[in-house]
Amino acid sequence: MLKIIIYVVLAYFVYRIFKGLFSNNKGIEKAGSGGVIDEMVQDPICKTYIPRRDAQKRAIGGNDYFFCSNECASKFEIENKKEESN
Ligand SMILES: [Zn+2]
Repeated sequence: MLKIIIYVVLAYFVYRIFKGLFSNNKGIEKAGSGGVIDEMVQDPICKTYIPRRDAQKRAIGGNDYFFCSNECASKFEIENKKEESN
């Protein structure tokens, strides 16, 4: 009977350690890389979230914008130019 309790306690600790390692690794990955890896950015045109490293970057009006594709980037540039000229 005592063995079963020991196994249950051990299983619980193993579970806790695994869970802790998993969540800690995720935190280190994000913090250690300055949030570059797996950082999600939103495309302001189609509202899609894409990984920052895969996104099309445009510097418009002193701000950096990220897009899922060149199409969205040029759409945004055109819209932005319209707003500027008005
Ligand atoms: Zn898009």
